Amino acid sequence: MKKMNKRWLVVGIVVIAIALIAGGYVTWQNHERSSSDNRVSYVVDEDNLSEENSSTEDKTPAEIDEEEHIDAEQIVAKILPDGYATSHGDHYHYYSGHVPANSLFSEDLILDQSIENFSDDNILYEIDNGWIVRKGDDYYVVLDDPNNRQNIRSESEIEAQHHNREHNDDDH
Ligand SMILES: [Zn+2]
Repeated sequence: MKKMNKRWLVVGIVVIAIALIAGGYVTWQNHERSSSDNRVSYVVDEDNLSEENSSTEDKTPAEIDEEEHIDAEQIVAKILPDGYATSHGDHYHYYSGHVPANSLFSEDLILDQSIENFSDDNILYEIDNGWIVRKGDDYYVVLDDPNNRQNIRSESEIEAQHHNREHNDDDH
């Protein structure tokens, strides 16, 4: 009887392992598909993140800037239900809470739509030049004045800061 139980235990473990591997594969496939189909290609995702190049902060971005003192901007690259992630040169930071009103944003997060298209429920909070909105399961920025893009960084600008930590801010 004891032996029998052991055998079932082994079968159970194998089944769970297969399920986990299959699940991981599906997730990976979905991820591959969304990154190739989606024009919004610069997102923070598992591929970009590892223990070494990301950290979760209980400080503010300003405090992190002060602490790390590197010559790269922190650019909000992803807005999450309970926080946001910034790209900072060659690494990322996660913060909880609202995105600071005066943040820099990746252009991937900008929705070229009028705020009138959003219901009150989907307008989450205000930032300096617009709003953080929810569209489906994702979070975006809608600009008050679409021509005022001073705090918006293009994919190539962010990419440049990735590779060049000495990138100088003066040319913006
Ligand atoms: Zn940093």
